[in-house]
Amino acid sequence: MTHRTRALIGGMCAFLFAIPAVAAPADLLIRGGVVYTGSDPPFAGDVAVTGDHISAVGRHLRVKARRVVDARGMIVAPGFIDPHTHVGDDLASDDARRRLVPAFLMQGVTTAFIGNDGGGAIDVKAVLDGAKKRPVGINYATYTGFGTIREAVIGMDDRAPTPDELARMKAMAGNAMCQGALGLSTGLFYAPQSFSKTDEVVALASEAAKRGGYYDSHIRDESSYTVGLKAAVDEAIAIGREARLPIHISHIKALGVDVQGDAPDIIARIDKARGQGIDITASQYPWSASGTSLVASLIPLWAQDGGRAVLLRRFDDPSIQSRLRAGMVENLRKRGGAGALLIVEGPYKNRRLDDIARSIGKDPVDAAIAVIRIGDPATVSFNQSEADIAAFMRQPWVMTDSDASTGHPRVYGSFARKYAKYAVADHVITVRQFIESSSSRTADWFHLAGRGHLRAGAFADIVVFDPRKYAARATYEQPTLFAAGVRTVLVNGRIAVDQGRLTGIAAGRALPRTPAPGSCS
Ligand SMILES: [Zn+2]
Repeated sequence: MTHRTRALIGGMCAFLFAIPAVAAPADLLIRGGVVYTGSDPPFAGDVAVTGDHISAVGRHLRVKARRVVDARGMIVAPGFIDPHTHVGDDLASDDARRRLVPAFLMQGVTTAFIGNDGGGAIDVKAVLDGAKKRPVGINYATYTGFGTIREAVIGMDDRAPTPDELARMKAMAGNAMCQGALGLSTGLFYAPQSFSKTDEVVALASEAAKRGGYYDSHIRDESSYTVGLKAAVDEAIAIGREARLPIHISHIKALGVDVQGDAPDIIARIDKARGQGIDITASQYPWSASGTSLVASLIPLWAQDGGRAVLLRRFDDPSIQSRLRAGMVENLRKRGGAGALLIVEGPYKNRRLDDIARSIGKDPVDAAIAVIRIGDPATVSFNQSEADIAAFMRQPWVMTDSDASTGHPRVYGSFARKYAKYAVADHVITVRQFIESSSSRTADWFHLAGRGHLRAGAFADIVVFDPRKYAARATYEQPTLFAAGVRTVLVNGRIAVDQGRLTGIAAGRALPRTPAPGSCS
């Protein structure tokens, strides 16, 4: 290389690097915050946004901008990504404000996965096209659902599919993948998915695997109901091994008195599988109570077979009373007793089962049956130990999720709570670990192109929050209070939260997954 070419290249490099400073002004400059990029140690600096992209990130950007957000004293981070939610109905709502998913934006969550727990759509194209017709506040990707597919083909029956039925189920899963599904989700705890055997799940997961998809699971047992927590984790690992695809265990936990303290054993199993080349991760919500329904928490699975109408008839069938009651007594014990179940909707809203039982003069099992006769209310179940929560949270393969569904403060507060309680107050993790487990770790593992990092060229999904104030305000009794402390949220470069208030701007996009080349011809 001649001296002259070297000088020329050097000059070009200098010129290229100078472009951000002297080119057309950025649309927005977030100035003077503590910047967590998602991969680097935090530093005091600026983030410039042009159009829907981040145009520069650095310590002292010499960038002119049409608007400057003063972020001094604030943390600037990639918008948070939630891989397990139930906000699909919100995103498809007729109500434009509901489609903003305000509870998420007010925590800085800019991307959510939907279709979890096996409930994802078969017509994935329609779900992904929704955002084009009716604007949404956050980005979303969707799974297709094992439960939806199984129910469409064989209903609520407790049996294996026939070869013909299995072929139809596989075709549905494959087609959904070709329409842009992220992968196959399952909720093997729930009927009718609980009626499946592992090989049936492997058959459908293989359809996702062929097209480069993921397997997401609410595992068969998070407690000691059926196969037990350890066997359920082993089943998820086996599905990854046999179907050959990345496995994600959603809302990982050790639920109930029989399995509390098992987190280290579960972690060891997953680490061993990872060591053997199984690509397995998990996500977790930062609450000791899970959200469920009264039926799901107390009624034995055999008694749920056939659906609600059959269950109500079983309540009146003398021949099975003792078996049904024994099952409910046992489930109540596993859940930690009637005082550990909080009903959060319907006529008994915000009352614990022991309190309801006392007030209507029945024992807890009869009280639960009386409540279920009216409906199947959302129920909060206090059933995890803080030691288990902390052990899972520290793992480098655990991401933040919310499992957002009504009646539990996790919808409005999961990310903010993980920061305020587990990073700042209890030092279970660092602030950097909180941010990365809530953004880049998720984006990288799920290959969400251009998301989860603050760097030039990435989509401008950004949260600016006050490190002294960011916290959940939602509680079990008042689950719909917005989180505190979020100042500014950008979704695809547009300001969704400004000065702590929703702007009403709906800049979210559907994130269809591109199937593996040649897998959908
Ligand atoms: Zn779930």
